[in-house]
Amino acid sequence: MSHLRDQLQPPAWPLLDEAVEAALRRAFADGSWGKYHGSNCRELADRLAALHECEHVVLTCSGTAAVELALHGLNVGTGDEVILSAYDFEGNFKNVLMVGAKPVLVDVDTRTGQLDVSQLEAARSSRTKAVIASHLHGGVVAMPAMRAFADQHGIAVIEDACQMPGATLQGRIAGMWGDVGVLSFGGSKLLTAGRGGALVTRDDGIAQRIRVHTQRGNDAYPLSELQAAVLVPQLDRLAERNQLRSENVSRLLALLSDVAGMRCFVEAAGSGALRRALSPETQPGFYKLGFWFDAAAFGCSRDDFACAMRAKGIALDPGFRALHRTHARGRFRAVNDLPNATLADESILVLHHPVLLGTAGDVQAIRDAISS
Ligand SMILES: *Cc1c(COP(=O)(O)O)cnc(C)c1O
Repeated sequence: MSHLRDQLQPPAWPLLDEAVEAALRRAFADGSWGKYHGSNCRELADRLAALHECEHVVLTCSGTAAVELALHGLNVGTGDEVILSAYDFEGNFKNVLMVGAKPVLVDVDTRTGQLDVSQLEAARSSRTKAVIASHLHGGVVAMPAMRAFADQHGIAVIEDACQMPGATLQGRIAGMWGDVGVLSFGGSKLLTAGRGGALVTRDDGIAQRIRVHTQRGNDAYPLSELQAAVLVPQLDRLAERNQLRSENVSRLLALLSDVAGMRCFVEAAGSGALRRALSPETQPGFYKLGFWFDAAAFGCSRDDFACAMRAKGIALDPGFRALHRTHARGRFRAVNDLPNATLADESILVLHHPVLLGTAGDVQAIRDAISS
């Protein structure tokens, strides 16, 4: 790769973190890097349990595996239905199919980019066993309304907090609004071990069913001692880094306030919502920062715009493909044509998080790239 190309690469992830280096050296010195069992996984699980104030933590090999296990933990199987957003991580859709259930897709809230909780009732049937609530791109699902719906009908909630570990929603940590919460430690995530994930729950029965599913004489979905070793020091700094990311998001949104055609998920309902979103009561996590892109305002397509930004070293990319546009109609049920999810498919842009740990100058560079 040429020198020039290197200069234009977006900031690298993971960070060069000295605490991680020290943890790797310790794992080398004490041999835990090569052992099935040791104190690192136990310490990570204890730390996650304390953070989430929950009784049960199950460490897993990925967030995707954790969602699958959550479905097993809720006894979701053949003939059941699971509601999720038509704009979501594809693995969530595939996991529902994998356990023999049918995905039921609901539309997106055009302000927040999240699952529209007002459509849950229309999506519900006598077969509905669970809802997957994924907080995406710095936005948050309206969990109080989701929880009320689920409790009223005896439906379980899987809260996918893979994109916002350590975030709080109305005073409660992300993951604990669900009957079971899911975290990811994948290679691009805010807490990373290259691979890995975790389940958090207060429910003894759910935890027990998950353990029965994973324990087959050996752990079938393991997180290693070495992975746990590098995650513990990252957990030490999670709150501080989440805070810095929030501050840089505020800075960026202030800089973008006069840019027509890019509307951020977290300023959905104007500056009041932004203030609320960044208040101590609700502190979203910023794995990606989502925007609705208006091609007409910019006079170019979203994908061309994203390419141009990449060429300037800014990691602003198209979001997910919507599930109803990439899967055969027979594989899911939907209550309407999902027009907002179609819009999301075509017009969401996401800013990747590493730059959000940068300086005011790094944030200014995003603004400059957008207007040049
Ligand atoms: C990354 C992610 C996952 C899955 O995590 P992996 O550890 O990569 O398998 C699940 N849900 C969401 C919303 C994610 O962003």
